[in-house]
Order: sequence, then C-alpha cells, then structure tokens
Amino acid sequence: MFDVLEFRKEFPILSKKVNNKPLVYLDNGASSQKPIKVIEAVKKCYESEYSNVHRGLHYLSNLATEKYEAVRDKVVAFLGASFQEEIIFTSGSTEALNLVSYGWANQNLVSGDEIILSTLEHHANIVPWHFLRSRRGIKLIWVDPDENGQISLDMIEKKISSKTKMVCITHMSNVFGSILDVKKICKALKEKGIVTVLDGSQAIVHLEINVEDIGCDFYTFTGHKLFGPTGTGVLYVNKKRINEMVPFNGGGEMIRSVTKDDVIYNKSPFLFEAGTPGIAEIIGLGAAIDFVQNLDRKSVLEYEKSISDYTRTELEKLDWLVRHCFHKNNLAIFSFSMEGSAHAHDMATILDANGVAVRSGHHCAQPLMDFIGVPATCRASLALYNTEHEINALIGSLMKCKKLFD
Ligand SMILES: *Cc1c(COP(=O)(O)O)cnc(C)c1O
Repeated sequence: MFDVLEFRKEFPILSKKVNNKPLVYLDNGASSQKPIKVIEAVKKCYESEYSNVHRGLHYLSNLATEKYEAVRDKVVAFLGASFQEEIIFTSGSTEALNLVSYGWANQNLVSGDEIILSTLEHHANIVPWHFLRSRRGIKLIWVDPDENGQISLDMIEKKISSKTKMVCITHMSNVFGSILDVKKICKALKEKGIVTVLDGSQAIVHLEINVEDIGCDFYTFTGHKLFGPTGTGVLYVNKKRINEMVPFNGGGEMIRSVTKDDVIYNKSPFLFEAGTPGIAEIIGLGAAIDFVQNLDRKSVLEYEKSISDYTRTELEKLDWLVRHCFHKNNLAIFSFSMEGSAHAHDMATILDANGVAVRSGHHCAQPLMDFIGVPATCRASLALYNTEHEINALIGSLMKCKKLFD
C-alpha cells in the first residue's frame, strides 16, 4: 500500500505555510515539487562532482561526464528505448518539439504536405508546426476532442489524406487529464507510413511509458513535471529517424572538427546537443527517475486513481461549478470555471488566500479554450503527494468563492 503521509516527508516544500494556511499544492500540471533526493543530487554535483562534460581529460571532467551519461542510460531504460543515440537531452518539451519541427519535419516535408494536430495540444506542440506553415507551406489539419476530452484513432483517420505526413498529439491532456490510446493510434499510423510525435509531458508523470511498445517515432517529456529540475527535457527519436534529422543549434559538442571552410559533424545524440548542457540539472533528472522507479508504480497508480476519483466526486457535488470534460477515465487534472460571475483568475486568487495553489488561465492551450468556449479555466492538477484532506481544502475554498460571487 502507498503511504501518502510518509511520501510527503520526501518533499520539504510541502510543509510550508502560505498566507498563513498550510500549502495545498494543486499546480502539478505546471510543475511539480522536488523530493530531497533530487535536491541533494544537484547539490552533491556542485559540491563534489562538478566540471564541464565531454571535453576535459581531468578527473572531475571524467566524473561529471560519467554521471551525466549514466542519466542517458537511465532514460533509455525508463522509456523502454534501445539505444543511447535515441535519447537527446533538451531544456524541456518545448525545445524537444521545436527540434522535431526543425530537425526532422522542416527537412523531410514539402509544400502541401499535411500535419494532423489535436485541439488538445499545448502551445509547445502547436507553434513549432505553425513555423512550418510559413517556412514550408505545410497545412495543419485539426482534430477536435469529444465531450470526454478524448481523441480516438477513428477521429484521426477521418482527417487523413494522401498528403498526411505526420500526426503530432499529446499523450495526456494538460487541461482535462484525458489519456489517449496512443499505442493503437501509432500502430495504425505506422502502417500508413505516417510519422508520429507524442507529447508525453503529462503522461510521463502518471503512466509507465514504453516507447517501443507504443511504436511512436518521437516522444518528448520535460523533467520539471517529473519531480526533476527545471531546464531538463528529453526527446526520444526512434533510431530509424535519426539519420533523417539535421541539427538545430550549431556549436561545441556537436562537431568532430571545424575548419574555416568546413564542419565534420558528431553523431547523435551529441549532434543535437550543442553547447554546455544543464549538467547538474540532468544529474538531478537522473535522481528524479530513480526516485520514480523506486516507487511501486502499480500501487502509486492505484492511489492516483483513488485520489482522482475522490476529487472528481467532490467537485461534482458543487453543481454550480462548470466542469470541463470530466470523465472517470481522466486522471489527476481537473478544469472548472464559474458561469458569468467570477473570472478564473478571481477564483484562483481566493483559493490562494486559503493556501490552495491552482492555475488559472488558458494553460498554454488557447485553441482548446476557444473550442470549449471559455477564455480561461481554473485547473487543479494533482501529484501523488496530494491527500483527500487537501481536496477538502480545495472544496471548502471553492465554496467561499461561491459565497463571495453570488
Ligand atoms: C508543460 C507542457 C509542455 C511544455 O513543457 P516545458 O517544460 O514548458 O517545455 C508541453 N506539453 C504539455 C502537454 C505540457 O503539459
């Protein structure tokens, strides 16, 4: 059994008070808090293992390189990939998706080709594809979600034409918590020769991921939502796509040799990692992955499902609350608003006065806000350190909102 109270002790910040109230941190979809093991790993790196990586011949440079590259091996195993060259470190999902757009799509698509996107996407999986519209004359084709926040293979297949070259979709919505059946989708698309890009920024936190089982071409995630440091992310590139990619940034690390007239390039992953990376941060990401993998993921998922069920049921009791795409299969993320009377920002401000941290706004998903017909929502997003007691605090502060705005 997963012991949430014991688990909370690993996160120093959770015992903090804000506005004189115990902190109730429900903004995990934007970023999660850090366990001691991650904080310690970053500290230890700077205290005793730090130097620049890959270049030096001296002791500390070798040590830092060893630690840094060990994280790549961890990510290979964590994602169910096969090769180190399939794992490219980036500063986050945003940079990873931009690298797919520039490094692969800009190189391999031509004017008139079509990319299918879902209306669920985060701006990080939209704007890089807009770049291709202006750069290459690529057409963007949109699939809207159903009333549960789902996108099915059927819905995607209806949008496929002879021009469809890529499908770029989220694995889990950062607004509704809906989880797409990406394995089924990728398998069918692969048979049609369509390249798949999955944004795993939210899914990686809650689900066990195996990219080879899913069968995608590209998979991205961001470290800071997975209890790791900011400025860390991963792009998984299936081996057969690597040689079709060109680098995005030029500089140190990504070359074998440079003359005044020519460059001989390094291989993946270094080819795509120009410049000094976030060394301590990546080492911290390694600690975060260890931390997650040391959990009994089955009982953790059970706990997350039960706390999600509890949250959904309690929120449903507030019949005046507008609930966006609540469905029993959606996990950990809840978007809601109040009709007319209060803006989502007003609600979040009142919740904050009660120590409850939620996000309000468009959640970097403006096409989705347009689709559901609101300018903004409040979003409570859970991590596995959240408790029923905290959900009660959320509900209590929402009732205060209702009183104030009625
Ligand atoms: C957070 C998030 C991103 C962007 O991650 P960054 O760390 O800001 O690069 C992209 N997609 C989804 C679904 C997200 O939740």
